[in-house]
Amino acid sequence: EGVVSFLRENLLTLLTVIGVVSGTLLGWGLRATGYEWTRREVMYFQYPGELFLRMLKCLIVPLLVSSIVSAIGSLDLSLSGKVGLRAIIYYMTTTVCAVMLGIALVTTIKPGKDPESYSQPTATKLIKKDTLTSDTLLDLIRNVFPENIVQATIASYRTRLVYDVNDTKSIRGHLETYKIDGDYQKGSNVLGLVCFSIVLGITLGKMGEQSRPLQNFFHALSEAMMIITGWVIWLSPLGVFFLVTAKIMEIDSFSELVGRLGLYFMTVLLGLFLHGFGTLSILFVLATKKLPCRYIAKMGQVMATAFGTASSSATMPITIGCCDEMGLDPRITRFVIPIGATINMDGTALYEAVAAIFIAQLRKVEMSFGKIVAVSVTATAASIGAAGIPQAGLVTMVMVLDTVNLPAEDVSIILAVDWLLDRFRTTINVVCDALGAIIVTSLSQADIEKCRATQNNDREGP
Ligand code: ASP
Repeated sequence: EGVVSFLRENLLTLLTVIGVVSGTLLGWGLRATGYEWTRREVMYFQYPGELFLRMLKCLIVPLLVSSIVSAIGSLDLSLSGKVGLRAIIYYMTTTVCAVMLGIALVTTIKPGKDPESYSQPTATKLIKKDTLTSDTLLDLIRNVFPENIVQATIASYRTRLVYDVNDTKSIRGHLETYKIDGDYQKGSNVLGLVCFSIVLGITLGKMGEQSRPLQNFFHALSEAMMIITGWVIWLSPLGVFFLVTAKIMEIDSFSELVGRLGLYFMTVLLGLFLHGFGTLSILFVLATKKLPCRYIAKMGQVMATAFGTASSSATMPITIGCCDEMGLDPRITRFVIPIGATINMDGTALYEAVAAIFIAQLRKVEMSFGKIVAVSVTATAASIGAAGIPQAGLVTMVMVLDTVNLPAEDVSIILAVDWLLDRFRTTINVVCDALGAIIVTSLSQADIEKCRATQNNDREGP
């Protein structure tokens, strides 16, 4: 009977895991037929998965904005300040721990100590930089302050350096001669939306009665999005099945996983594992005085979806749903999870540090203490700046490479295994968010009770 009730409770999770596993098997099977699958054919296989992803993605902007606004609006102002601060401290601490763990592992294991096995020539040619590290950091902060909130839902700002080709003399003389230009690139500016929603939430909270209609609106919108999530979630077994099948079919070769990049791959994987089951678990026990196993077991659905979609943003609705099921206070989870899904990417931070130092080892770049510090800082910033979409970390890694004077093109060295590492790091990213929600809830329990008691007293009158 126990087995039956376990199956009933975890049916969807089991189906989703079966989706991932059978997708992998089918993908392998289709490759094994020896037939050369064309891009178009792979697209047909991916199509149902793509529809599932589109449904999840469609929920992100309304859910993110309405959840943050209504959660902050419904919390007492000093309480939301405390919750926010705790969440930020947790996000920062775990990200820094992840980066340090990554650096410790990559400098001990030294996966890039054997550069001779690489056929690529060492980078001697001059590479035109697209942007400088400082531009990427400035863009990160620029995006926190969107100039147009509607535009922020579809695009984020990016600086470009345009080399002034007419000014040949100075180009020869000073390589840094360029024009600073900027444009908007596709993909919503989630960071800006989060910031705007926080400010709006605080303001509505301050306005009191007058803001009630708007607060009710955002609350109802957030609830409605979660109800739709509850429907979409039932498609996840099929969705991840097709996404994984198509991914396996389109990979050029798997030889890199065990070949030249094998040791690098294992280093990142070991780091992710140690971070998820070591660092995070220890922090969890310290903060909540409970063991994390029971909670992690309940996150099966979240992990399987993160693995299948490789996107923490797309997984966000499911993460919130999972926290609801665990009985956490929605005012806290709907506040901290959307922010976590946007800025808290421990897996990505760890991978950025490992990958940059791995490439530096291959290129025989001496890693001084100063450079290691620079890598840690930029890897942290790169993980905050990375969007919660597949392989976003690969894009922001250019900034980390730049700090050790490596060209952006070197990203191509690790490209072959990134699709798989991306899935593992996304899984850790979302687990960290969900554990964070539990930790912040547990740390804020006393404040919530106090706030409730004051509210009751106020209502009962003197
Ligand atoms: N795919 C990751 C995420 O969504 C980001 C990355 O590391 O590429 O969390």
